[in-house]
Amino acid sequence: MGLLDRLVVGSASWMPRFVIGRVAARYVAGDSLEDGLALAKHLNTQGFAGTLDVLGEEVRAPEATLRFRDAYLETLDGIANSGADCNVSLKLTALGLRIDPELCWDNLAAILDRAREFDNFVRFDMEDSSITQATLEMCHRAREYYPRCGTVLQASLRRTLEDARGLAGAESNVRICKGAYVEPEAIAFQEFQEVRDSFMAVARQLLEQGSYACFATHDLWLIEGCEALVAELGVAPDRYEFQALSGVPVEATLDQLLASGHRVRYYIPFGSEWYAYSLRRMRENPAIWRHTLRAMFSRSRHRRR
Ligand SMILES: Cc1cc2nc3c(=O)[nH]c(=O)nc-3n(C[C@H](O)[C@H](O)[C@H](O)COP(=O)(O)OP(=O)(O)OC[C@H]3O[C@@H](n4cnc5c(N)ncnc54)[C@H](O)[C@@H]3O)c2cc1C
Repeated sequence: MGLLDRLVVGSASWMPRFVIGRVAARYVAGDSLEDGLALAKHLNTQGFAGTLDVLGEEVRAPEATLRFRDAYLETLDGIANSGADCNVSLKLTALGLRIDPELCWDNLAAILDRAREFDNFVRFDMEDSSITQATLEMCHRAREYYPRCGTVLQASLRRTLEDARGLAGAESNVRICKGAYVEPEAIAFQEFQEVRDSFMAVARQLLEQGSYACFATHDLWLIEGCEALVAELGVAPDRYEFQALSGVPVEATLDQLLASGHRVRYYIPFGSEWYAYSLRRMRENPAIWRHTLRAMFSRSRHRRR
């Protein structure tokens, strides 16, 4: 991290709230479920599917996990009532995975029950490597309970190709991303191109084994690589999708993907905890403050406001 990045990120918690608010305004739909649904519906009209994510940091008190469970129950209700083409993505630590796996399961089962009512899909985001195994195990358990759910694999981890093989099957639905966490060399690729190569190897593995593959990246090299891969393997367009984070400036590429007949989904975070989320994003990825400066002077054309 450069000196300037270190200075900016180190002082992020002293920055005026409105400055952090500018980070949030680009990446977050708003404070409320209504904001999230409105953006999802707006993106639907342009041909994009959506995934709603209720913002929140890891919780430490068991009671706090219930708040997240209830927020996801409301979100699934809201999606069904609004008719949006949208599913949900959640963090298992917000449901208590680090506190007690059974508490997490109880919360998750309630969410899966609600998803079952509406035949909707539930994704479990992948967090840092200390809970990769626990997340995969929870995912296996969840898929036996309600098959319309799935997790995420991080190309940066050396174990991931093997994990992909463990998620084989036409019913499995896997998001592949580079991985947002800094991990040690012993378990993670450190070179930029190594992570890309791993992403492509995992994407190929998922498609060849018949899994539904979600390519979550803004890296144009990977997007082009995945387009070429599905063409080479002759994969039907309903067996994969591209995914992007709301706010990342790749609109032209996403428009092209849609125009070429690919399915594209936006990941849309919303919720009152945008402040902590944005601070964390800045600490994890110091380059974000630069994107923020740019974002102050631009607006995604896929957004309403
Ligand atoms: C839909 C989706 C879901 C994800 N879920 C998870 C998850 O469950 N677990 C996990 O660990 N990670 C997740 N990620 C994050 C992912 O692991 C990467 O950290 C992130 O996508 C950046 O990697 P990249 O593939 O876009 O490539 P990069 O090489 O990092 O970025 C490619 C280009 O996009 C630009 N860019 C990337 N991110 C941003 C940004 N935030 N703002 C502005 N420009 C940006 C870069 O500047 C660069 O020009 C997810 C990403 C997406 C798109």
